[in-house]
Amino acid sequence: MKTDLSVVIPIYNEEAGLAKLFERLYPALDALGLNYEIVFINDGSRDRSAAILAEQFRLRPDVTRVVLFNGNYGQHMAILAGFAETRGEITVTLDADLQNPPEEIGALVAKMREGYDYVGSIRRNRQDSAWRTYASRAMNRLREKITRIQMTDQGNMLRAYGRNVIDLINQCNEVNTFVPALAYTFARRPTEIVVAHEERSAGESKYSLYSLIRLNFDLVTGFSLVPLQFFSLLGIALSFLSAALFFLLLVRRFLFGSEVEGVFTLFAITFFLMGVILFGIGLVGEYVGRIYEQVRGRPRYVVQAVLQEDRTAAAPASHPLQAARSLER
Ligand code: UDP
Ligand code: MG
Repeated sequence: MKTDLSVVIPIYNEEAGLAKLFERLYPALDALGLNYEIVFINDGSRDRSAAILAEQFRLRPDVTRVVLFNGNYGQHMAILAGFAETRGEITVTLDADLQNPPEEIGALVAKMREGYDYVGSIRRNRQDSAWRTYASRAMNRLREKITRIQMTDQGNMLRAYGRNVIDLINQCNEVNTFVPALAYTFARRPTEIVVAHEERSAGESKYSLYSLIRLNFDLVTGFSLVPLQFFSLLGIALSFLSAALFFLLLVRRFLFGSEVEGVFTLFAITFFLMGVILFGIGLVGEYVGRIYEQVRGRPRYVVQAVLQEDRTAAAPASHPLQAARSLER
């Protein structure tokens, strides 16, 4: 039987909100009248999320699959593991905290059916803290300038991808990546729609300021060399400037004798430039570190078990639930 729609949801310590998610997600998908599957990925939750997911699998084994990681590998790795398991013509990603209303999935699918292979989304009224909304807008603009990726609202995960895009992503082996941007680079006909956004239903955001900064570095370094090129251009410009200054001071030295005035101005300039240099070295480090992780070639994540219905079982009399297919990637 062909699967029309796969829904991929990463889960990390979401025990408080999962019941509410199931309550809205399954009816919303049933209402679409499609053959669908939901792939949950438990990203090493330390709470009861895995047990709750296993229970939900027992309730709806026909449309539910659960990938269990053996540790926490991050939201984007979880989504990639989910992609590897999907069978649908269309794949939709969603956050587990109900910030992305499941009722909007229908709108994404409808848009895909118009012939697009990537449908991004823009949050109508973003329900996040003011500083976060503002910072993310600024980062969004910067990213748009230095990568060729056009996403009005990069932080939103409620998106739909065509089979062609998912197949290409499954061929990639990126260690640090940002799924919506990676998908965009493969899309032939991308578009965006406006969707609703709600407050987190329960639990708290898994992203600290630190991990948000890391994520934005992934987004920039994974898709652009412009920051490095900017530093080499800056280096060239500064070399010319300092050469000019050197000649100026040399001439001045012979005309008016030695000078000490303006020493502190010189210090200020020096310290500023030292800051710039340190940032530049750090930036090179961000790229080098990612290259290091990539060439090390360790498994990007380890799947402990996949809960899914045994599709190979031919005889209907056999037990329908063949749990725990163990595999490692
Ligand atoms: N998530 C995950 N692994 C992580 C962090 C987050 O799978 O290491 C999941 C989380 O359970 C949620 C989604 O990614 O479904 C988005 O996380 P969150 O809502 O905390 O992020 P925010 O909405 O604050 O950006
Ligand atoms: Mg959230």
